[in-house]
Amino acid sequence: MKAMVLREYEKPIVMEERTLRDPVGTEVLLRVRAAGVCGTDLKLFRGKNPRLKLPLVLGHEFAGEVAAVGPEVRLRKVGERAVVYMYMTCGQCEPCLTGRENLCANRRGFFGFDRDGGFAEYVLVPEANLVTFPETVSYEEAAILGDAVATSWHAVRTQANLKPAQTLVVVGLGGLGLHAVQCGRACGAEVIAVDSLESKLEMAKENGAQHTVNSGSGDFVEQVRGLTGGKGADAVVVFRPHAEVIEPAIKCAKPDGTVVMVAYIDIGKTLNLDQRFVQGMEVRVVGARGNTRQELAEVVQLVARRQLHPLIAGSYPLEQVNEALTQLATGQVTGRIVLIP
Ligand SMILES: [Zn+2]
Ligand SMILES: [Zn+2]
Repeated sequence: MKAMVLREYEKPIVMEERTLRDPVGTEVLLRVRAAGVCGTDLKLFRGKNPRLKLPLVLGHEFAGEVAAVGPEVRLRKVGERAVVYMYMTCGQCEPCLTGRENLCANRRGFFGFDRDGGFAEYVLVPEANLVTFPETVSYEEAAILGDAVATSWHAVRTQANLKPAQTLVVVGLGGLGLHAVQCGRACGAEVIAVDSLESKLEMAKENGAQHTVNSGSGDFVEQVRGLTGGKGADAVVVFRPHAEVIEPAIKCAKPDGTVVMVAYIDIGKTLNLDQRFVQGMEVRVVGARGNTRQELAEVVQLVARRQLHPLIAGSYPLEQVNEALTQLATGQVTGRIVLIP
């Protein structure tokens, strides 16, 4: 089978012919039909994660069809359509047992990080990591549910605990941010979208944002506070991994509001948090990491019911992964690029 292999940082990813063994135990052989290209893939490609061991096949969000099953697989059948839950978890630690397996204490890997991912024709996946989806959802749409959509849902629905009639501010309208706008609307909230690119603000409006703020034209905090009658928003979700965006974004929150940090800044960099604001306003600053299996299953349902609409910015043949990363690096991509093996 063909696999696109990262052998050296910032050097073109190369196609290799590989032989995969047959699935064993509860493993499933998944024929990848589409894989999303995430901003994190760009970070990994640039060597920003010291834990990575090369060579590696990138790709942590992908979907496909079951091509073969191991002898102990009980539920999945050949031909079924399934999206992959990206974390390999133990199922036994406290986070796993309380439905927070994104925080598993004994994580055994992560597709596209410490085990080969979806930028290939086939991947071996534990049966437990598959969530099936109906034919009304395309492979391209399903491919980006595992991160771009489910991680946004985790941030907005779970970590921000957004409720109907509340106000959500989404800062940064990349592959996740635009889906977070949709998630905010699905929760019944009013959404204010913030970005420095007019094209992304337009896209946010098309995806349900009632208000947009161009952060390139002055102080976005003042503009957001103006839109909320001066009081600030119930929830602020930040998708930009830069201190100069995160630090002011905290001040978009109302007293007792919640700020969710989804993007993570580069190793070695730190934040200058306005502690007096956080303390004085009782602002809740929380993190958001990936998503849970339940949240992935929820977004599959929401997409099947057309309450969420995965945004495909374009598709490239698998062999053109380098072109896809170059395109993503321009910062102009609205939605997610997918690779098609
Ligand atoms: Zn990602
Ligand atoms: Zn665990």
